[in-house]
Amino acid sequence: MAREYDVVIVGAGMVGALTAVLTAQKGLTVALIDKHSGRYTLSTPPAYDARVSAISKLSQKLLEEAGAWQRIAQDRLAPYHKMAVWDGLGDGYVDFDTHYQQGQTLGQLVENAVLCNALMKSVHDTRGIDLYFDDSVVVQRQVDQGVEIDLASDRQLQGSVLIAADGANSQVRHQNGFETVEWDYGHHAIVTTVEIDQPHESTAWQAFGEEGILAFLPLPSVDDKHYVSIVWSVAPDDAEQLVALEEADFCKRLTYAINRRFSALSITVPRMAIPLRQRHAKQYVQEGIALIGDAAHTIHPLAGQGANLGFADVSALVLILVKAHQRGEMLGSMKVLRRYQRARMLDNIAMSASMEAFKRMFMTQQPIVVRLRNMGMKLCHSSATIKRQLVAHASGIR
Ligand SMILES: Cc1cc2nc3c(=O)[nH]c(=O)nc-3n(C[C@H](O)[C@H](O)[C@H](O)COP(=O)(O)OP(=O)(O)OC[C@H]3O[C@@H](n4cnc5c(N)ncnc54)[C@H](O)[C@@H]3O)c2cc1C
Repeated sequence: MAREYDVVIVGAGMVGALTAVLTAQKGLTVALIDKHSGRYTLSTPPAYDARVSAISKLSQKLLEEAGAWQRIAQDRLAPYHKMAVWDGLGDGYVDFDTHYQQGQTLGQLVENAVLCNALMKSVHDTRGIDLYFDDSVVVQRQVDQGVEIDLASDRQLQGSVLIAADGANSQVRHQNGFETVEWDYGHHAIVTTVEIDQPHESTAWQAFGEEGILAFLPLPSVDDKHYVSIVWSVAPDDAEQLVALEEADFCKRLTYAINRRFSALSITVPRMAIPLRQRHAKQYVQEGIALIGDAAHTIHPLAGQGANLGFADVSALVLILVKAHQRGEMLGSMKVLRRYQRARMLDNIAMSASMEAFKRMFMTQQPIVVRLRNMGMKLCHSSATIKRQLVAHASGIR
């Protein structure tokens, strides 16, 4: 006999876990399934986890609502007030800071494992969520009242709606024939934690140049030593070579690629290279099923927006499901789920398109484009109005 829920969520990463907490808080019953154990081992600073995310203020608010943000230790959070971007093939430079919006940060850097760990504590403390961890969906079928699921553990669940939050390679998306538009960015992102020679000034630094796209993202200092998380997007062959370099040689290349603004002294965790792929589901919903977060869309990390878009999906979907539940509507009906798709798709497409445009504009070395983009950056740098808009965009409050 299948156990019945209002909502069945596949994937308890940051997007799925947040969805579970916010829906259960509103009185819906939730099953949360993950092939992972749901336990996170946190590293000890300065060996900060290689995977970090810049969390916008809007996303932070949602995480606070879920009671997760408050559980993150202050010494694992790095607020940033400023972004500084330059073009390594010219003299184009733009920076913007919260000077234009008083008393504000642009967002905070946090390790993915730390964030997921905090969310998992909220999941455990929220009534109405049943956990099916170390488990996965084997078969799923449509039934009159929604979706029925057989788990690998032989248990059976039924949900009025199935939410796929199972990440970029979503099995739910594949199994249900959702079509995607996708292509390789031709980049792998090298991530690691680096000790640098001077304070990062709570600034997210980004250099576009011959050496690829390189971000130095602030992390908390330890014993007066300064650390950044790097995301270095380069061609796949270059990534392989850079990951294989001796540490000292890698640091030399980093120092050069960041235009010697900082000297990279050492790395504190092993380097990882992550292939980057743009992907967008043509539809986010089918009868009984909704895709959310990376299961619906992945974008280039150059603006640090992937998880923030996923959290915005969560906010929209939860609101729509809770309202539908109060009105007694079928949660998995196309009438209800299309509201979510309408609420989110255009925003997500717009962000994907701008990331693609940015990447193309900065990766070309055609002299005319290089000149134009350097002029554009200088123009932005001299305009308070444009800077105000950039601040609003980066902090997610536009
Ligand atoms: C280099 C890099 C830097 C980034 N930086 C930023 C940033 O600064 N800011 C930002 O906002 N975003 C950033 N992103 C994007 C961000 O990391 C992702 O958007 C976010 O992690 C997606 O979360 P998710 O919960 O949708 O998916 P995931 O984190 O992939 O979680 C999916 C979950 O589903 C589970 N799962 C998978 N398959 C199954 C299955 N078959 N059955 C059961 N469970 C399953 C997994 O175990 C996992 O727990 C970055 C991405 C990259 C690659």
